[in-house]
Amino acid sequence: MSVPRPATLPQLRGVGPEMVRKFAALDIRSPRDLATAYPRDYKDWRTPTPIAEIVRGALARYNDRSEVESSEEIAVATIVAVRERRARIAIVEADLQDGSGTIKATWFGRRGLAGKFAAGGRIFVHGRAQTRRTRGALGVELNVLHHKMLAADESYVGKLVPIYSATKELPSRIISSVIEKNFGALEALIPDTLPPAVRAKHGFGTMREAWRDLHRPATPEAALAAHERAVFEEFFGIALGAALKRAERAASGGAPEMRVPADLLEAFEAALPFRLTAAQRRVIDEIWHDMTRPAPMNRLLQGDVGSGKTLVAAAAVVLAARNGVQSALMAPTEILASQHARKLAPLLLPFGIRVDALFGSMGLRERERARNRIASGECELAVGTHALIVEGVEFANLGLAIIDEQHRFGVAQRAALRSKSTAPHTLHMTATPIPRTLAQTRYADLDMSVLDELPPGRTPIETFVLRESRKPGAYAFVRKNVERGRQAYVVAPAIDESEAALTSAIAELEVLQRDVFPDLRVELLHGRMASREKDAAMTRFVRGEIDVSMATTVVEVGVDVPNATVMVVLDAHRYGLAQLHQLRGRVGRGAERSYCILVSPDDRGVVERLDILAKTTDGFEIAEEDLRLRREGEFAGTAQAGGGGGMLGNIVGDFALYMRAKADADAVVAADPRLQRPEHAALRGLLDTETSSRAVMLSS
Ligand code: ADP
Ligand code: MG
Repeated sequence: MSVPRPATLPQLRGVGPEMVRKFAALDIRSPRDLATAYPRDYKDWRTPTPIAEIVRGALARYNDRSEVESSEEIAVATIVAVRERRARIAIVEADLQDGSGTIKATWFGRRGLAGKFAAGGRIFVHGRAQTRRTRGALGVELNVLHHKMLAADESYVGKLVPIYSATKELPSRIISSVIEKNFGALEALIPDTLPPAVRAKHGFGTMREAWRDLHRPATPEAALAAHERAVFEEFFGIALGAALKRAERAASGGAPEMRVPADLLEAFEAALPFRLTAAQRRVIDEIWHDMTRPAPMNRLLQGDVGSGKTLVAAAAVVLAARNGVQSALMAPTEILASQHARKLAPLLLPFGIRVDALFGSMGLRERERARNRIASGECELAVGTHALIVEGVEFANLGLAIIDEQHRFGVAQRAALRSKSTAPHTLHMTATPIPRTLAQTRYADLDMSVLDELPPGRTPIETFVLRESRKPGAYAFVRKNVERGRQAYVVAPAIDESEAALTSAIAELEVLQRDVFPDLRVELLHGRMASREKDAAMTRFVRGEIDVSMATTVVEVGVDVPNATVMVVLDAHRYGLAQLHQLRGRVGRGAERSYCILVSPDDRGVVERLDILAKTTDGFEIAEEDLRLRREGEFAGTAQAGGGGGMLGNIVGDFALYMRAKADADAVVAADPRLQRPEHAALRGLLDTETSSRAVMLSS
């Protein structure tokens, strides 16, 4: 039995060039796109409502002064009388009657329609029922949206009507009719990919059965089950792509296989002024274990601000150096890179490890010297910015690449650092906690280590949300802290006044210097300053020569000044929760009690969003909430399912289902890492789809 498989839209029945254009607006460009443009909802047109009940319902809403003015109803009735009135637009009215009662049905703008209706004819109608008061009398009207004449002996066959994501030019009804006209041909485009064992485990039918139930469900339950079946398959494809990538990396070799001397961790800890936290020990162990294997490490180290990632990075560098290979650490800004160099050098000194810095702003001669030491192998850790990955920087034997704040680099930049050697171990670091849903998808090809414990002795940062009108209070608080010898950051969302709605750092600096803190040392720090100026300003702040740094988000990541105890964020409503959490992490890095003050307009809704920051300092909790809020924003007003190209499932919302699909995908790959078994052959088709390739972003 062979059904022809249409390859282009015009090969479908009822599709001409004009409709191809209209489909394109919905991102439907091929028969397959159309086949998988699943309904976003269904109308239940299975059982007509008795007219008496429609009337009763509408009157009850009217009498109860319900907010809901009309309700959508369907009825099957006999036409008792028809009239056409010529108002500004044509109005056709018909009195309809079924066994239970009578209702007036109206059609607007359908000139000539009355001629097609005859008293005594039977009709199916769908419309909005609403109570109206006309000339003092209450009456219920049905404003008809769809109708269908029925033959005298024809009984109404009810169904669930699919609602497709549509446009004004291409309404759902037309999409549905194209799908109906080509049902068999479209169905033939749906492959069956899931291995029989996986299907059996979940009691799933074939994907084609699910496909039929999505477009033509007999019951809402059937539609729901089919939706879950289809989403599972989509998630399975994503998880499978990630699992295969990981398997491929695990099987590949070429990375330096290191030996961990028995006493190395003790020796490392002995050289520190404090004890490692349990989390640091665990994570160092995970990383060192990866580095003993020939498969290149590809690990993401997540740790909230202040959790001690630098130390973990140092431990990895120590192991690499012990095994005779070089390390490189790349950070997104010079401030961060130089801070890393400054913090790492003393940690590595006891192990005789030489650290060199390489920045774009270094003088030619200085840069040349650093490059030579890196090329000769004399330098065992090179710390730098993008300057590390430019051509001309050659490593004698790079074995470990560490990328700080990995999300600030592009795929190409991360790859460029790794390409300085054949197969170095790679450690990505981030202070931005990644919600587990994203970690499982976007970063699914990475192994994860989490520093989920802060070093002891920290007092949690106290956070307050203040209205704009109370800003003077915030500044008075800053003054009090400065008088005790502490320092403060004030952060504004814009540099200058090019964005009128935002507080600008330059304008606020003037206010601070002239009116608020004329006697204090206030300086500017923003992203458009030359990097030498920026570093100089930051260095003065680090040395305590500045009391208040009026900054933009350049102080966002990693900057570490233990004496800074107050962070004031202006226009806090302009930032995401995760970013505010990052900014807050700039204080509370010493033993002193620290404070974060979020200033936002005198407007309640916005403040509520910020409240979570006052309630918790758990970065993961904040990241989850941030993601949830952003998702809500994204989906507000847009349909989630249907349409070509988009994803059917929502991994955040359906996380449990995703994890089930992932467990099965992992099991398939564990048993058959190259998908060579016949029952897995069809799975390759899943990998070609756009969605599965979207899942993995870090590698390539
Ligand atoms: P991160 O990079 O994760 O934000 P850092 O590595 O900069 O954190 O560490 C923050 C501060 O905590 C540093 O001053 C560091 O010396 C200190 N620190 C790190 N680990 C410990 C520990 N186990 N005990 C006490 N202090 C620690
Ligand atoms: Mg850090």
